Amino acid sequence: MHLTNPRPTDELQALDAAHHMHPFTTGEDLAQKGARIITRGDGVWLTDSEGNRILDGMSGLWCVNVGYGRARLADAAARQMKELPYYNTFFQTSHVPAIELAAKLATITPDHLNHVFFAGSGSEANDTNIRMVRTYWALKGKPNKKVIISRRNAYHGSTLGGASLGGMGAMHAQGGLPIPDVHHIGQPDWWAEGGDMTPQDFGLARARELETAIAELGEDRVAAFIAEPIQGAGGVIIPPDSYWPEIQRICDAHDILLIADEVICGFGRTGEWFGSQTVGWTPDIMTIAKGLSSGYQPIGGSIVSDEIASVIGGDEFNHGYTYSGHPVAAAVALENLAIIEEEKLVARVRNEIGPYLAVKWTALTDHPLVGEAKIKGLMGSLALTPDKARRAAFTAPAGTVGFICREFSFANNLIMRHVGDRMIIAPPLVISKEDVDTLIERAWKTFDQTHAKLKDEGLL
Ligand SMILES: *Cc1c(COP(=O)(O)O)cnc(C)c1O
Repeated sequence: MHLTNPRPTDELQALDAAHHMHPFTTGEDLAQKGARIITRGDGVWLTDSEGNRILDGMSGLWCVNVGYGRARLADAAARQMKELPYYNTFFQTSHVPAIELAAKLATITPDHLNHVFFAGSGSEANDTNIRMVRTYWALKGKPNKKVIISRRNAYHGSTLGGASLGGMGAMHAQGGLPIPDVHHIGQPDWWAEGGDMTPQDFGLARARELETAIAELGEDRVAAFIAEPIQGAGGVIIPPDSYWPEIQRICDAHDILLIADEVICGFGRTGEWFGSQTVGWTPDIMTIAKGLSSGYQPIGGSIVSDEIASVIGGDEFNHGYTYSGHPVAAAVALENLAIIEEEKLVARVRNEIGPYLAVKWTALTDHPLVGEAKIKGLMGSLALTPDKARRAAFTAPAGTVGFICREFSFANNLIMRHVGDRMIIAPPLVISKEDVDTLIERAWKTFDQTHAKLKDEGLL
């Protein structure tokens, strides 16, 4: 069955520009250029309204883990819509998909994480986490333990709470953020911020900022530390090996809660079910969304420890969303987890396609424009640089070169993103070796074109 495109591309673009406000976009720029309109998806391939076939190196927004075009997920949604399209889980009611999904999640998470509070997205789930950890400490008789420590250049969503936890300066600059009692420490980005230190020393130094922050704020004021096991939107920042063990040591030494934001890293992306398992970190709460349903339905949640659930359960938690545990979204998420299990996608990332991509991705550092290449499972990044030995930044404002590179990539029908002057990928977990080869070929061509243009324009 094909949904036919009812209008020519320019007409769609004009309507889009006239009526549709896009996230993280300068409206006027897009209106001038016209949006690229995606009409279909199949496996790792997208089709646009002009009929171009595009290799999606980003799984949509890091979410389409099982790839596009899965009839099983569509059927699961249709079945559930016919049976019970909606009911809520407030006021002592429940329904089968929410029950089954919560129980299923408890079987794939570490032993002590057995309780799920559902939300409609990752941002909402992190808002839940803010209220949950503060309520937890209040119920334990420590209402002053309210501060949440996060990291600069972290991404935890776009709601007031999520964006406050996040460490994106451009987001804080709009709308009066962050909210009170959120504290940010440095990120473990050795390439950009490590100076003359070795990666290992830098990893330790950045981890120890957590200990310093706890000491300065006072342990009696700190409720929790939140982090992505690998920062995604911040540029796929994979910390030096020294970082996570030191973070774990500090967390163990202090009475604070740990929130692993697994919205990107979860559901096989890093070669384990969860990124915290890959980096060896034991959280009290995990934030989930994205790969939970492979993006086929909007759903997120917080998976919390037995200890937190028992404390929170002692009083009414005055919090919840109309769509918490939405039955259609939950049914689709369940079917998505079944696909990941049946097709052994987590092991595939760890043992087969992850290592295959890693070799080729790392070899891109042979290109004159490419500095470090980092990759874990199926999330990778590269630093573009005019001078590898010095890890130099371009003289043009940060992001200028990354943007040029991304434009060439789009034109080559490869979706890569840029974060500043880092290029990032996170392809669907089902990507074939042949499609990995295509991705690498197109990336190389993209860097050649970028290199030529930088020379032409005197930006090198
Ligand atoms: C995308 C993302 C979020 C926000 O999820 P939404 O579903 O967009 O609200 C939160 N945390 C991380 C790590 C993310 O990548």
